[in-house]
Amino acid sequence: RAKAEGRGTYRFFEAEMDAKMQARRALELDLRGALQNGEFEVHYQPLVNLAANKVSGFEALLRWTHPIRGRVSPANFIPLAEEIGAINQIGAWVLKQACADAAQWPDDVRVAVNLSAVQFKSQTLVLDVAAALGASGLSSRRLELEITESVMLQDTEATLGTLHQLRGLGVRISMDDFGTGYSSLSYLRKFPFDKIKIDQSFVRDLPDQADSVAIVRAVTGLGTSLGMSTTAEGVETQGQLDRLRAEGCTEVQGWLFSKACPAAEVAGLLTSVAKRCSAAA
Ligand code: C2E
Ligand code: MG
Ligand code: MG
Ligand code: MG
Repeated sequence: RAKAEGRGTYRFFEAEMDAKMQARRALELDLRGALQNGEFEVHYQPLVNLAANKVSGFEALLRWTHPIRGRVSPANFIPLAEEIGAINQIGAWVLKQACADAAQWPDDVRVAVNLSAVQFKSQTLVLDVAAALGASGLSSRRLELEITESVMLQDTEATLGTLHQLRGLGVRISMDDFGTGYSSLSYLRKFPFDKIKIDQSFVRDLPDQADSVAIVRAVTGLGTSLGMSTTAEGVETQGQLDRLRAEGCTEVQGWLFSKACPAAEVAGLLTSVAKRCSAAA
């Protein structure tokens, strides 16, 4: 009996695995057509400079609205796009779109675009960035590129070469999700990043949790010493904001100010967020 039950359980798992694989394959297929079908949209979340109490830029965050499933999270479809070899094309499109949108904004407002580790393996990344800047007429100093430590993990010589080439175009380079990997600190020595983005997991338990306070204090201090600005991600409360300001963080980003919004709402955000900053100061 036990044996039969065991087999039954096994068959159950097998069927479940099969269903998951099929769902994945269906999603893959849809993802391949998403760009051509116009299902992607770039949304923008304000980055707020704490010294100036103003919006210093926006992070471009990709949104996919599937015709049947609705909104699919980038945490799910970006890894899938990497696996099926679609991320280079999608990434190039995001760069183009973000630069074209930002070219319509005031001169002192930047745009930050996320890059996948896979894009660094392609030979076209530097050309894609240059093409996006060229087509939009956006000044390169207004473009920031965000990379995570998965980029630094791979093939360091070639990766560093690409980072220096990008820097050579005049763009800024940010270390995203800082502190979540296992050798974040060593990467700061390998490449002179312009900005460190403190991962939201360290912001979540502010203002009071002692360990998080210590980490945020250390990272902002590190940024200051290394000549890199610091941005705190995932700021949701006034208490978190007050603490980050007290610790000398350069910039904040989070739902306290705004979620990521369509390009058409950026102009409105520039004034409404600035008002909220001053009020929250
Ligand atoms: P990320 O670059 O670290 O982006 C920050 C994420 O935190 C975004 O999630 C944003 O919506 C979310 N967030 C912002 N403020 C708050 C807050 O106050 N509270 C909380 N809980 N979350 C907040 P999102 O848009 O779901 O994107 C997830 C990740 O997907 C991004 O993390 C980035 O790694 C990746 N991603 C998004 N767009 C692109 C893209 O165009 N290209 C690539 N390669 N990756 C992208
Ligand atoms: Mg980012
Ligand atoms: Mg991040
Ligand atoms: Mg993140």
